[in-house]
Amino acid sequence: MNYELVVGLETHVELNTKTKIFCSCTTQFGGDPNTHCCPVCIGLPGTLPKLNREVVRYAIRAGLATNCEISRISKMDRKNYCYPDLPKAYQISQYDMPLCKNGYIELSNGRKVRLNRIHIEEDAGKLIHKKGDTYVDYNRGGVPLIEIVTEPDIRSIDEAKEYVEKLQLIMRYIGVSDCRMEEGSMRCDVNISVRPKGSGEFGTRTEIKNMNSITFMAKAMEYESERQIDLIESGGKVTQETLRYDSVSNTTSSMRGKEDANDYRYFRDPDLVTINVTDEEVAELEATIPELPDEKRERYVDELGIPETDALLLIKYRKVAEYFEKAIEGIQNPKTTANFIIGQIFRTIENESAKEEFAINVSAENLNELVRMLESKKIKMNLAKSTLDKMLETGKKASELISESDMGGLDEETTKRLCAEAVEKNPKAVADYKNGKEKAIKSMVGYVMKNSRGKADAMQAENIIKSLIQ
Ligand code: ADP
Ligand code: ZN
Ligand code: MG
Repeated sequence: MNYELVVGLETHVELNTKTKIFCSCTTQFGGDPNTHCCPVCIGLPGTLPKLNREVVRYAIRAGLATNCEISRISKMDRKNYCYPDLPKAYQISQYDMPLCKNGYIELSNGRKVRLNRIHIEEDAGKLIHKKGDTYVDYNRGGVPLIEIVTEPDIRSIDEAKEYVEKLQLIMRYIGVSDCRMEEGSMRCDVNISVRPKGSGEFGTRTEIKNMNSITFMAKAMEYESERQIDLIESGGKVTQETLRYDSVSNTTSSMRGKEDANDYRYFRDPDLVTINVTDEEVAELEATIPELPDEKRERYVDELGIPETDALLLIKYRKVAEYFEKAIEGIQNPKTTANFIIGQIFRTIENESAKEEFAINVSAENLNELVRMLESKKIKMNLAKSTLDKMLETGKKASELISESDMGGLDEETTKRLCAEAVEKNPKAVADYKNGKEKAIKSMVGYVMKNSRGKADAMQAENIIKSLIQ
């Protein structure tokens, strides 16, 4: 039988407000254990929480950027459970009146993943297991989180990956979180079930807790869906339970039976007042939402003539998109600028997080200058490319690296002389070319380019060389 995946994701995103949700301790990542703490966030009796309004504003922006309705009235509730990472023995969260509701994120295949809700809550501390002992670090306790809950609308591993990537990018664009899964500022719980393809009913689900990388999330989903299918095929039944994924053995195992909302004995936190949001505040926050990744991609393709695949690469990192937009000011053909960024600049950047940072030696203004020189025909493409390499190395401007005499290109006389030299010094390439190896000409053109420091016109050189050896 053919099976279909049914998946709903619950994603926690740490907000990068300066201070925690109910006290004025810093939210900074790291720090010596238990140094970013005060009586409120370590839950001493008698302390009173006070809601950081900035958290509400960040969460509203997250809701607006994901097509949610913003509740004008909401409240905070206590979710009771006893675990050493939670010193009060309850987490302050939102239960039945979340701040944002009924949003969606659209996937590239046109399907919408509906968001049931986005609510605000506090993070718990972190347990560290060492040599048989367990230590607790409360620095993370009280760091503000939003939890984004989807409807069970995701139908494949690829859709789940795309959803998480899109969510991550949107949150980064609006600047509410850096969403670094490896640092725990974004974590996903995966609710997963399988059903015969075409069936209108949902199967029993399991929940895999705390995925901290997209790769592992995909692997866990693959393992867990196969486990469920095997179980059903062999006449068994899936038990609703909470699982942990072990990336070393690539298996899931049971953590605990599924808890019910009832188990948490939710009730309103009597220490915190009702959260009121006015229409004016929503409008004010709406105005701060920048152009989002999907809109940007569309504009790059439709208005700037950038191919779709390139547009996707440019919007994937907010800083790259901002850089690109600055670099094309007044440029006739933005595609040239895009090619320099994707082809040449990206090659000098090692990994994803460095692309995220995009701290390169060439300012957007300087790339703009280079492309202008090219567009006004002061320099040729070859020289532009070799100059960009030097700019990346030295941080200098194109106009500092290219002299007036370089700008004119190479006169025909000198080009001819260098071509003759290239032919003379590369007898093997000449022979190869004559034997039908078209590519051999490239090494001779390369010689001319190198010895003219990129000034020669490569097409012209190729033609001259061909005529010399014919
Ligand atoms: P609970 O209140 O028990 O936590 P929720 O209704 O809040 O359950 O759902 C939690 C998550 O599980 C949501 O993301 C939802 O989309 C998802 N989910 C619910 N039913 C299924 C199912 N049968 N298969 C996969 N995911 C599901
Ligand atoms: Zn504190
Ligand atoms: Mg739930």
